[in-house]
Amino acid sequence: MTPQPLPEVGAAVKAADRAHVFHSWSAQELIDPLAVAGAEGSYFWDYDGKRYLDFTSGLVYTNIGYQHPKVVAAIQEQAARLTTFAPAFAIEARSEAARLIAERTPGDLDKIFFTNGGADAVEHAVRMARLHTGRAKVLSAYRSYHGGTQQAVNLTGDPRRWASDTASHGVVHFWAPFLYRSRFYAETEEQECARALEHLETTIAFEGPATIAAIVLETIPGTAGIMIPPPGYLAGVREICDRHGILFVLDEVMAGFGRTGDWFAADLFGVVPDLMTFAKGVNSGYVPLGGVAISGAVAETFARRPYPGGLTYSGHPLACAAAVATINVMAEEGVVENAKRLGASVVEPALRELAARHPSVGEVRGVGMFWALELVRDRETREPLVPYNATGEANGPMAAFAAAAKKHGVWPFVNMNRTHVVPPCNVSEAELKEGLAGLDAALGVADEYT
Ligand code: PMP
Repeated sequence: MTPQPLPEVGAAVKAADRAHVFHSWSAQELIDPLAVAGAEGSYFWDYDGKRYLDFTSGLVYTNIGYQHPKVVAAIQEQAARLTTFAPAFAIEARSEAARLIAERTPGDLDKIFFTNGGADAVEHAVRMARLHTGRAKVLSAYRSYHGGTQQAVNLTGDPRRWASDTASHGVVHFWAPFLYRSRFYAETEEQECARALEHLETTIAFEGPATIAAIVLETIPGTAGIMIPPPGYLAGVREICDRHGILFVLDEVMAGFGRTGDWFAADLFGVVPDLMTFAKGVNSGYVPLGGVAISGAVAETFARRPYPGGLTYSGHPLACAAAVATINVMAEEGVVENAKRLGASVVEPALRELAARHPSVGEVRGVGMFWALELVRDRETREPLVPYNATGEANGPMAAFAAAAKKHGVWPFVNMNRTHVVPPCNVSEAELKEGLAGLDAALGVADEYT
């Protein structure tokens, strides 16, 4: 893993990218993507030979790091044997992936519908809920991200929804609990939980319970800020759903497959949804794959009536072979336990210690390898450190923070006024300490804006 400097190749890669690649969620001329030459484990490097410790796990998906040899070998073997086959057939890699996933999902979520990623998993979960209940509306949280396709972006609460919102999609948003920026004037987790549940009940009452097919929630909202729901909240939502005949959909695209130190975040709270979406960590994103885990009752709806939906690449053999190998690696190498143990023994104490020394840290929250630091200008008022300068360019305090982290060899996750600490779940203690030292230095830069 010794990166060779190849600056001319890097310049050519960059030039072709700038000429022809249209990037997601970006103003095309205001971005400057790093040309990446290679990656292994928790690190990647550029064509100048500079290495970065990846504290982002890509987009929070390389839960076993880059280029795991067993998963690479499994993809190669599958490619040599049967690279692709249409979804209507029973294929070994597909059936084995479904079996391994169903074995790990909570409750009776035993049937797996495969998609190409997270957003289409969410789309299908909603379609199944609507067909199962015969109802149209779907409730989701303002502070949420569910994907970039039409229904998934409508469900999404964050402002990325605005540009595509057609307002004719049957989605009603509500406030889920978040004590640090409470919408309910709560001062304790108990108050936040009780008032958030009351607010949800009121929303349902005014929308008409018999019109609502599903409540869709990220078990732990990820992109929107890693907000751990207070004890009792998800169990409370489950109870409300049961009382009104509403299906409970948990989106575990980001929180699932070891990220929280359990196979699924739902396990942390002891709740079993009716439908659960997954993607990302299912095969560490080595080949695009997502899916919906379906309860017995919902699956029964489509036992003698066709499910009206499908995808050409549903359960693609290469993606499923990667999932089988990834899940086996996670089990054999104790990856989920590693996330739990090092999250509690290394990350949490280190982040709390950083918060005690750096005035820019307003709050630390998280679990496993799923942590957020909320950066603020003023701890009393909780005014966020803004990501942009007055003209809208991303060169404000958060950009300065990110540049400082990169200078120290750590690639940080930055979203709005937050940095998320989301390294691979099989990260080592030494790597974590190296990354946390880089964050320490970068927080010194953020402090200058307090
Ligand atoms: N749901 C959640 C919770 C996510 O975090 C994401 C992606 N960040 C998605 C859905 C969408 O997944 P994809 O980008 O694979 O479509």
